[in-house]
Amino acid sequence: MADRIGLGIDFGGTKLLGAVIDLETGKVLASAKKRSSAADSAEEVMERMYDLADATLRAGKIKASDIDGIGVGIAGQVNAEKGILLGTPNLSQAVVELPIVDLLRKRYKVPAALRNDVQIAAVGEMAHGAGRGAKSFMCCFVGTGVGGAIVEGGKLVSGASGSAGEIGHLVIDAGGRLCGCGGSGHLEAYASRTAITNTLLGHLKRGRPTLLRELMPEISDGEANAAIRSGVLAKAVEAGDPLVTETIHDAGRYLGLGLASVINLLNPGRIVLGGGVIEAVDLLFAVAVEHAMREALPTPARATEIVRAGLGDYSGVVGAALLGAQAKKR
Ligand SMILES: [Zn+2]
Repeated sequence: MADRIGLGIDFGGTKLLGAVIDLETGKVLASAKKRSSAADSAEEVMERMYDLADATLRAGKIKASDIDGIGVGIAGQVNAEKGILLGTPNLSQAVVELPIVDLLRKRYKVPAALRNDVQIAAVGEMAHGAGRGAKSFMCCFVGTGVGGAIVEGGKLVSGASGSAGEIGHLVIDAGGRLCGCGGSGHLEAYASRTAITNTLLGHLKRGRPTLLRELMPEISDGEANAAIRSGVLAKAVEAGDPLVTETIHDAGRYLGLGLASVINLLNPGRIVLGGGVIEAVDLLFAVAVEHAMREALPTPARATEIVRAGLGDYSGVVGAALLGAQAKKR
């Protein structure tokens, strides 16, 4: 076992991933995965978190006293300084004030840290992934939603209230589609897997021919409630399915327009694109890059390289483990 190890937890909306990380190399030494759905109470959120942390320690055959710290990334709004979760789509209640860091410290007797899920992924990519060697870069992850984080001079940029980097809520179409946040015309409503799914389900309902009916029979009438998996989208594109190809093209164009705005505003040296849909569907990445470069101002566009995330599913847990180990003992 490595000299310095940390525990990282990525607490997503549907997937919970925990991992024991070698803090020097970013290598995943052991991991545990659980499915999740919206919890009914803050206590239930903590029970699931303990459950995952314990399972991860068991998978690594280690005790809590063997780790340098524990870090958690969770979808939602957090107060990173105080280690408090303020609100999360993982919970049916709208607002909470859950002191996750204190609770973890008490239970495991090690330093702990809390950030949102995109910020931990950016930290992971900065240390051991596609952000290496870049002092300033922007991370953008496309999944259920579209999340982003900004790294400047090797540090996460928080902004006045901790939400800097929310690329998913850039307005890319005035008065356009309703976004999950209540606003309209936001990037997330056009480029997320949720948006792609909604568009495709609409076409299925109207009877448009597509390979999706064979690949995912449960959605063939367009009534399903489930997200269309990234792997299914990739297969349909590979097979040349016109409907899915066209839908991915549209999503990629909007994503590219959002990235062009980021390039113009921040003049980043690098943009790291990741998340399940980007990983699986090459076409989405290619179309987004093409439109970003076409639409951004020429000078900052030439200075920006757009690359894929380097750690795949593990960028979050790697970053979380690093932040946990950096947190102060109290
Ligand atoms: Zn929004």
